[in-house]
Amino acid sequence: MESGWPESLIRDVPDFPTPGIMFKDITPLLDDADAFRWAADELADRFRDTPADRVVGVEARGFILGAAVAYRLGLGFVPVRKSGKLPYRTRSVDYELEYGTASLEVHTDAFAPGQRALVVDDVLATGGTAAAAVELVDSGGAEVAGVGFLIELGFLGGREKIVVDADCPVISLFCYGG
Ligand code: AMP
Repeated sequence: MESGWPESLIRDVPDFPTPGIMFKDITPLLDDADAFRWAADELADRFRDTPADRVVGVEARGFILGAAVAYRLGLGFVPVRKSGKLPYRTRSVDYELEYGTASLEVHTDAFAPGQRALVVDDVLATGGTAAAAVELVDSGGAEVAGVGFLIELGFLGGREKIVVDADCPVISLFCYGG
């Protein structure tokens, strides 16, 4: 792999969406076929030995990576969406973002008891979003088998908020600080 690739395709956008936030824009990486494939393959490979039944992707960029990882691992895909977007009956959980508060929802029939789910998102920042997704899996009677991110903002300590079993892998491909 050429030095700095594909990390060089993650673009820092200062003060988006609010002042003081350094937004990690992954659209250049997604736009590059080799880099996108590398990211999906690498995330999938990290979970190759982790038995799982589903990939849970968090709206919106978690859909892009999560769906690719699910396809790669031969697993089904469960969307976790922002409030009011899912058409069927839902369960929801409130959470705090690096910039604001929100709630996440999943369909009530998304999981069967005992199923094992991999949670995937693009960025782990303060950890509120991932913690909420994990809570939705747990409260649905399923088990979190692993949690994966393309990018972790380690200096924000978000992984401390993700409550999973000690043997549950929480991985990121690129970690900044922390
Ligand atoms: P958090 O709940 O603080 O861990 O935020 C994670 C969620 O918000 C992810 O779904 C990211 O897509 C998005 N996000 C938060 N901070 C950033 C950032 N600095 N750059 C890009 N996305 C971010």
